[in-house]
Parts: sequence; C-alpha cells; structure tokens
Amino acid sequence: MITIAERLQKLPPYLFVDLRQKIQAAKARGVDVISLGIGDPDIPTPDPVVDTLVQAIQNPEDPDRHRYGCDIPVEDFPQAVLDFYQRRYGVPLSDDQVATTLGSKDAIVKLALGILNPGDIGIAASPGYPTYNIGHVCASATTYYAPLLRENDFYVDFDAIPDEIKRLAKVLWINYPNNPTTATADLDFFERAVEFGRQNSILIAHDNAYSENTYDGYRSPSILQVDGAAEVAVEFFSLSKAFNMTGWRLGFVVGTPTAVSAVKTVKDNVDNGSLRALQFAGAKALSIADEVTPAINAVYQKRRDMVVDSLTAGGWAVERPKATMYIWAPVPDRFNGSSRAFATALLEEVGVVVTPGLGYGQWSEGYCRISLTYPDEVIKEAISRIRDFAR
Ligand SMILES: *Cc1c(COP(=O)(O)O)cnc(C)c1O
Repeated sequence: MITIAERLQKLPPYLFVDLRQKIQAAKARGVDVISLGIGDPDIPTPDPVVDTLVQAIQNPEDPDRHRYGCDIPVEDFPQAVLDFYQRRYGVPLSDDQVATTLGSKDAIVKLALGILNPGDIGIAASPGYPTYNIGHVCASATTYYAPLLRENDFYVDFDAIPDEIKRLAKVLWINYPNNPTTATADLDFFERAVEFGRQNSILIAHDNAYSENTYDGYRSPSILQVDGAAEVAVEFFSLSKAFNMTGWRLGFVVGTPTAVSAVKTVKDNVDNGSLRALQFAGAKALSIADEVTPAINAVYQKRRDMVVDSLTAGGWAVERPKATMYIWAPVPDRFNGSSRAFATALLEEVGVVVTPGLGYGQWSEGYCRISLTYPDEVIKEAISRIRDFAR
C-alpha cells in the first residue's frame, strides 16, 4: 500500500484549491459565477519585458539560451537587483546578498528548508500568506502565530510573544504591504522588527511581494533600509505582482548572506535555476520599474475607488487601502462575523466569489478579501450584485 507522508496530512487544505472546488460546484449547478477571489493580475506583462524574453530565446548568437540557468546564469539579473535596491530604496547590496528565485512562494519554502531543524519554531504573522506555515511543516518545524490586530495597526506586538517562543524560534515572517489586511508598515516598525531579531537571534523574513502596488503617492519602504538590517533580515521580492508576471516564476531574496546562501544551497540541490531568457526579461522589468508601475497602479487605484465608493454608498463601509490589490472588508453584521457563511451565501445567492478571511487563519475571521485583479466590467458587475446582496 502506498501512503502519503504525515507532513502532507498536516497541511491545511490549500485555501485556493478549496475555493476552486466551490466555484466548480456552483457552476455545475448552473450559477453564473464571477470571481473576485484570487490575486492574479489580469493586466498583461509590460511589452518591453515580453519583447526581451522573445529576443533572448530566439537569439542565435547565444549558444547557451536553452541551457540550465543555474550553470550559466545571466549576470544582468543580480546586477539589475542591486541597481533596483539602490535606486528604489537607497540600499547598497553586495553580490553575496542576492539569490535569484523561482518566485517567492517557492523561495519561502526553500528558506525554511535551509534554516530550520525538526522541532524548531517559526513565527508567522497572522493573518498571513499560508506558505510561511507550509515551509515550517515541510521542514518538520512548528508554527507559532503572532496575531495582527486592528488595534495594533496590524503590526506584530513583539512584547506579546512569550519568552519560550523567543528562545526557540529561528525565523519570523512578516509581510507589508500586507496580504490580506492591506496594512502598510513604516520604517519605525521595521526598526523594531530588526531589534527584535537581533535581541533574540531570530531571522526576520520580510515578504515584500506588494512593495510596488501602492496608491495615492504612497511609497513602501524596504526592511533593509534599517541600519544593520542585513545582519538579521532577508527580504523576498517577487516580479509577480509588481510587473504582472505571476506565471513567469521569477523573484529574488536579498539580505543576510547566511540566509541567502542557505536558499542558494537548497536551490542547487532542488531546482536548476531559471531559463536564461527569463532572467534577461526580469532584468529588463526591474530596470524599467519607474516607467511601468505608475500605469499599472493607476488601473488598480481606479478599481479600488470604484469598489470602495460603490460599497460604501450602498451602506457597506469598507476601508480604502493605500497598497496591495485587495479590499479587506468586515463581513456584514447579519452574518455574525462568520466569513465562511458570508462567502458561501454570496456565492450561492448571487454567484460572486470573495475569499473568506478564515482561510488566512483564526485572526482574520470576520473579514473577507475582495481582489482587484479582474477587468473593470467584471468588477462592476460583481459589485452591483454584492451591493444588492449586502443591503
Ligand atoms: C502572491 C504572493 C506571493 C507569491 O508570489 P510568487 O513570487 O508568485 O510566488 C508571496 N507572498 C504574498 C503575500 C503574496 O500575496
């Protein structure tokens, strides 16, 4: 009899798999389903990035274009990362502080495999991206959830973390601008996080997936802007949300050389790097960030205002986020704080999919997440249905 590993049995059902199944079931019953459930940009990758990929893969002058990206890496990519961090955040990085990744989701698990021993503890801010815990489970480590509460501006309350946890933990995962709460962090919070890491010998792993998705002139900082951060912090950057490249699988991790090299060692043993053409295209994306992100953000900002204005006018007050491509909305009163009951009723009755907060952990119960990564007409239709329903 073939059996599956206990570690797989320990994984909670993956949030979006569950959601996909519910959507399929509703469609099969004949419901006209529209989804605002998933955060996967509908806007295409910028043309210059696509053109670079096409030219690089077709370039007959490059005899290595089809080869393993790890054996013949493209120096342009780490160089573009160094230039981007210098230009965007004023942070100088050295070569041993950068690793190219197959996107952040993959790299988050690889960092966990690279730094955790069985029985170790990892701290994950909650609500948060499920992959932090998944990495811990893959490394046979345990997750301690640090709640992000509205009354603390969705910041981690470092004083509330028990001494025993501080002693045993090896890593703390944070993410600002935050998915799903949309909260942003200022440098002062990052300073406290770095100080917490230094005092307790805990690596601070900042998932910076949404740093470029910001509105109303807001600019999101990097944790590496904090003095001495590179001794205890790493930052995961992904090209997915910044440049509409979710399917391309490209990102990087920067910061503490020991942690960066742990990721590299896992990569050397598990994946064979990214396609060279992809690395050239990624370098292009980072180099034109200033030119392309304003247009991308203008689209989300318009959608954000459409959703917030329309729901608020309909009597459902939701906050206007200054970053991420989500609206984090408290479920209407008549659902007594049950995000699943609300999401299920919304799907069954008007065919609109939103993500129930509960999927992001117990601390996000009472909320649901509305994603802005759908065409304007789809959002408009969904919002008019939600308004009628929520009333
Ligand atoms: C989308 C997302 C990522 C993953 O991005 P990839 O680079 O595509 O793997 C990581 N963290 C958070 C919080 C995200 O929302």
